[in-house]
Amino acid sequence: MKNPAQVLQKKPKEGSEKKDEDYIKYGFSWCGDETAPRPQCIICGDQLSNESMIPSKLKRHLYSSRPSCANKDKQYFKRCLEQNKKQKEFMKSVVTVSEKALEASYHVAKLIARQKKPHTVGETLIKPACMEIIRLTLGPNEVKEVNKVSLSADTVKRRIHEGSGHSTVT
Ligand SMILES: [Zn+2]
Repeated sequence: MKNPAQVLQKKPKEGSEKKDEDYIKYGFSWCGDETAPRPQCIICGDQLSNESMIPSKLKRHLYSSRPSCANKDKQYFKRCLEQNKKQKEFMKSVVTVSEKALEASYHVAKLIARQKKPHTVGETLIKPACMEIIRLTLGPNEVKEVNKVSLSADTVKRRIHEGSGHSTVT
């Protein structure tokens, strides 16, 4: 006898794969919950309602918003979809780098304040010293990351101020 749970588990997976293939030819992928997926236009990024997940509505969206894309084939939309994904990943990596740079700038400002050093040492000593260490131990590409950390006297002053503001709240 077959295990009914296994059969049930298998079905939605097959369904969602088929769904991907079905909708991509209309220029759509889908997002949101798998049980109530919403079609998302590959070209303009618009999200339609779950009820719009029928070929005629998807076709209508493509014809009305991008008539030039209406006759493109599945391969074209697949390429667009890939490109969108890459762009999203790129944007994500840009955000994480700048967040890390911001955090680093906070930490260094705290060190400077703790040692009661002038705010200018960030840019005149700490940053060049870090860059030398990173250049010799890790390499030139990593140095670029260090360079993104702002340690100017103004930034350090601002960070110390922001930092002390936080600590008085707690
Ligand atoms: Zn669209």
